[in-house]
Amino acid sequence: MKVNDPNMKTAYIAVGSNLGDKLNNCFKAIGLADKISGCSVEKKSGFYRTEPVGVEDQDWYVNAVISMRTGIQARDLLKGLLAIEAGMGRIRDKKWESRPIDLDILLFGQDVINEKDLTIPHPRMHLRRFVLVPMAELVPDLIHPVLNETMAELLDGISGEGQMVIPLVEV
Ligand code: ATP
Ligand code: CA
Ligand code: CA
Repeated sequence: MKVNDPNMKTAYIAVGSNLGDKLNNCFKAIGLADKISGCSVEKKSGFYRTEPVGVEDQDWYVNAVISMRTGIQARDLLKGLLAIEAGMGRIRDKKWESRPIDLDILLFGQDVINEKDLTIPHPRMHLRRFVLVPMAELVPDLIHPVLNETMAELLDGISGEGQMVIPLVEV
C-alpha cells in the first residue's frame, strides 16, 4: 500500500522512557516503529522531560508523540508496538513501573475502539500533560473524536499540578 493511499489513516503514538538511556530509547523505538509493515512515521514532536504521574519514587520520563501514516488495523499496529517494547527489554510486572520504552496508541484517525485489549482514543490521554503538551505542539487543532475538543483546548483545561513537562534541549 502506498503512503498517500486515501485508505490510510494517521495514528498518533505516545513514546516514553524512564529507564536506561531514555532519549536514545525513544529514538530507537521511533526508528523501529517506522519499520512496522504498512506504517511510516510522519511527524515527531519535540522531546520533553516529564514528571512521573500516578506513582511515587520513580525517575522522570522522556516523552514525545509521533504521527504515523498507516494502512493496517489498529490491533495490528498495537501488536507491532508491543513487539518493539518486548524487543527493547520491557518486562511487565507492576502497573506503571519504570520501563525502557512505552508506546501507546493515542488516536487512530477519528476511530473510536473499545475492545478488551485496545481502547482508542487512549482513555487517559486527555488527563496527561506529558501527552497533551507534545500533541498541542504537533497538531493543536486536531479534535478528540469523543470529547470533541482540540488538543490545545484539552491542554488548557487541565491543571499542571504534579505534571511538570520541560522541553529537552539536546546538547
Ligand atoms: P497507561 O495505559 O495508563 O498509559 P501503561 O502504558 O503503563 O499504562 P501498559 O502496561 O503499557 O500500560 O499496557 C497494558 C495494556 O494496555 C496493553 O497490553 C494493551 O493491550 C492495552 N491497551 C489498551 N488500549 C491501548 C492503547 N490505546 N495503546 C496501547 N495499549 C493499549
Ligand atoms: Ca502508557
Ligand atoms: Ca502502554
